[in-house]
Amino acid sequence: MIGGIYFGPPGWHLPDIPPVTMDPRRDPPPHPADRTQLCDYLAAADLGQTHPQFPSLANQTASVSGRKIKKIMISALSIIPESRIGAICAKINPAEILAGMDLITGIFSSPTTVLAYERIDQRELRPLLKLARSRCRLLPLVSRYPAAHPAILARIVAGCRSADPLEEGILTVDLLTCLLLGRSLLHGTLCSHRPVQIFMAGVSPRVVWAKIGSSVRDVFLQAGIDPGAMQCIANGLLTGREIDPATAKVDSALETLALHLRPEPETPVDCIRCGWCVQTCPVAINPAALYAAQCLHDGVAQANPRDAMACIDCGLCTYICPSRLPLAACIEDMRNRVEFNLVSVAGDSSV
Ligand code: SF4
Ligand code: SF4
Repeated sequence: MIGGIYFGPPGWHLPDIPPVTMDPRRDPPPHPADRTQLCDYLAAADLGQTHPQFPSLANQTASVSGRKIKKIMISALSIIPESRIGAICAKINPAEILAGMDLITGIFSSPTTVLAYERIDQRELRPLLKLARSRCRLLPLVSRYPAAHPAILARIVAGCRSADPLEEGILTVDLLTCLLLGRSLLHGTLCSHRPVQIFMAGVSPRVVWAKIGSSVRDVFLQAGIDPGAMQCIANGLLTGREIDPATAKVDSALETLALHLRPEPETPVDCIRCGWCVQTCPVAINPAALYAAQCLHDGVAQANPRDAMACIDCGLCTYICPSRLPLAACIEDMRNRVEFNLVSVAGDSSV
C-alpha cells in the first residue's frame, strides 16, 4: 500500500490517444441474445475484468444466473484518484460505448440504468452524455474517490447496504467494459488491448493502448519513457502495488502505471489518537482500533474482525495518518486471517 504522492490535479489534460488495431476474431459468434450467450460471447472475446475493483461482467452474469436485476450501474469513475479512465473511454469512441451499453441493458432488461460520472470529466464526456441521456439516468458526482468502489457507488445510487451490490440485484459495469464489448460487437474483434495511463513526475501524463499479456517495460517504451531503476506502482499510488516493469505483464485490469524515485522508508510512531483515520474512512470503521487489535497477539480481543471485512482497501487511512502507521496493510492482513479462518468471528459460524 503506497500513499502520499499525486501526479497533478485530477483534471489533467488528456493527450491524443493513437488508434489501435485489436486482434481479429476467427469466427465471430452472433450477437448474444440472452445471459448464457453473453457469457459465451465474453469468453470468446477475451473480455475479462477491466476495472481494478469491479468484478468482470462475465463473472457477474454467471453468478446472477436467472435472478432479476433491479438496477444497472454504469460507471465512468475510477477507483484510482489520478486516473481519468471515463474521459479516456469517451474520447476514444462514444458509439462503441453505446453499443456495449445497449447490449447489456437489453439482455438484463433492468427497469433502471444509471450512468455515474465525475463532473470534472464533463467536457470530455459531453458527446457520450448527449447520446446516453435518452437511455439512462445521468448521475454527476463531485468526487470519484472512493465513490468508484462498487460498494460505495451502490450506496450512493441505490442506498444499498451490502458490500456486494449484486446480492441486492445491482449489476456494476465500468465504461471500459462497455467500450471493449461494443468494439467487439461492431467490428468482430478480440479485446486484446486496453488503455493504460502512465504518470511520471515532471512529464505530462501519457495514454497508450497496451496489449494484454505484453511486458510492462514495453508499455513504457511505447510511451517513449525508459523506466530505468525508478519505483513503478501499478493501479494507483493509494491502492496500488509495486511491480517490476521487466518481469510484470499487462493484465486486463491494469489502469495506471506510475514511476517515481524510490521514497525513503517511513518510520511509524505511536498513534496520537487524532481520529483522522476514523473521520476519513468511507465505510465508517475504526482503523486505529483494528490496528491496535492486530498488534496484539490475540488480535480480536479489542476489535470486531467483521469491521476488517467491511474495509474496501481504499488506503485513505494510511494516507492521512500523521503517525505514518500502515493501517490499511494491517487491516488487509486481518482480513486475510479472517478469510483463512485464523481468526474466529463470534456468533458467525459461516466464517
Ligand atoms: S483502507 Fe482504511 S479508510 Fe479505506 S475502508 Fe479500509 S479502513 Fe477505511
Ligand atoms: S490517524 Fe493515525 S494517529 Fe490518528 S488516530 Fe488514526 S491511527 Fe492514530
